[in-house]
Amino acid sequence: MKKVRIKKWVWFVFVSLLIGIIVWFLFFHKDETVMKDLSSFHETEIKKYAEDLGLQLELSYEYHDTIEAGKVISQSIEAGTKIEDNMNLKVVLSLGKLDEEALREAGVNEMGKVPIMMYHGIHNLKNEDTDYIGGNVDKDGYQRTAEAFRNDLEMYYQNGYRMIRLNDYVDGIVDVPFGKSPIVLTFDDGLKNNILVTGVDENGEIIIDPNSAVGILEEFKKKYPDFGVTATFFINGGLFEQPEYNEQILEYLIEHGYDIGNHTYTHPDFTRISYDTAVTEVGKMYVLLEQYLKDQYVPIIALPYGSPYKKTHDNFSAILSGTYDEVSYQTKATLQVGWESNVSPFSKNFDPQFIKRIRAYDNDGTEFDIAYCFEALKKNRYISDGNKNQITIPEENLSYVSENVTLSIVTY
Ligand SMILES: [Zn+2]
Repeated sequence: MKKVRIKKWVWFVFVSLLIGIIVWFLFFHKDETVMKDLSSFHETEIKKYAEDLGLQLELSYEYHDTIEAGKVISQSIEAGTKIEDNMNLKVVLSLGKLDEEALREAGVNEMGKVPIMMYHGIHNLKNEDTDYIGGNVDKDGYQRTAEAFRNDLEMYYQNGYRMIRLNDYVDGIVDVPFGKSPIVLTFDDGLKNNILVTGVDENGEIIIDPNSAVGILEEFKKKYPDFGVTATFFINGGLFEQPEYNEQILEYLIEHGYDIGNHTYTHPDFTRISYDTAVTEVGKMYVLLEQYLKDQYVPIIALPYGSPYKKTHDNFSAILSGTYDEVSYQTKATLQVGWESNVSPFSKNFDPQFIKRIRAYDNDGTEFDIAYCFEALKKNRYISDGNKNQITIPEENLSYVSENVTLSIVTY
């Protein structure tokens, strides 16, 4: 009888295919079209699960007396439900039992004050190179040395401050870890040394001077990944004084998590111009921002010279809203120049149209300089509960909470 022999190579192909199918089935095949019970999942697993299934995930956190921290309290899509396209999955994770002792120990107080730092120029100098106190480059300390700016950032970080975006602060989104405090950085005037471009690399990307403000901020982003490095730059019609790089600079800033705001077109004192000129100064700048950064800038104005100091001034309404060149604008917040920390965005005293800033300068700990303001903050700084969806405050501060606050309030 003739034996049928299957050639070796046929066997080889057959076995390879079989292994391939098994591997594919085990690792790549997805038939998870039914919602799982997430109660044993950790946060990272939930994120991955939602991503794999194409679900829009919304996580929130609450204290819970019996469910331990990190575990799921509830899921909006019940286990067993068939998953369909574009479903939203809301998951509430437990923060564990409200630990009053831990809150007291960390001094959690979301009614505390927030430092909004006001910088202008950063100069590539050491403090000893200047004729003025500390890191001041000029008499009033509007210009600061690179050395002093690095020391400022180090001091903020070491003292438990983590940066948040100005726009988030205004919106009441304070996302810093438990026990840490928010800080906001702002730069006025769009000076060249805010983001000095020294050339273009082989990929066509701009090269930024490591001793300019953004160069130093990027250095700290690498040094302390949990610092939340960001800043808002308030610019005038000249943008960053490097017209050949306008598009690239603005694109870089947005891509790297910075914000751009309005500092008027030519930096006038609002109390010395007509109402119509005020509209032009504000509106023309908004039009320019819109042209470069369609819907990506923040509708916030840093008032040149902090003027007017009073909201009752006739020109103030032109700052808040108007129509220039047939384009209407609305300003959501305005910033003053100086002189101390601002209140919590949840305080009933919070006024987005009148936000105070700390002038980032040195004066031997007097006259509202950096050291003075941070010393004052020790008494009443904002200290986070680590949960941006809820406000935690000592019982005695409850009467200061704004009635506009929609987040849940925890007192201890
Ligand atoms: Zn200015």
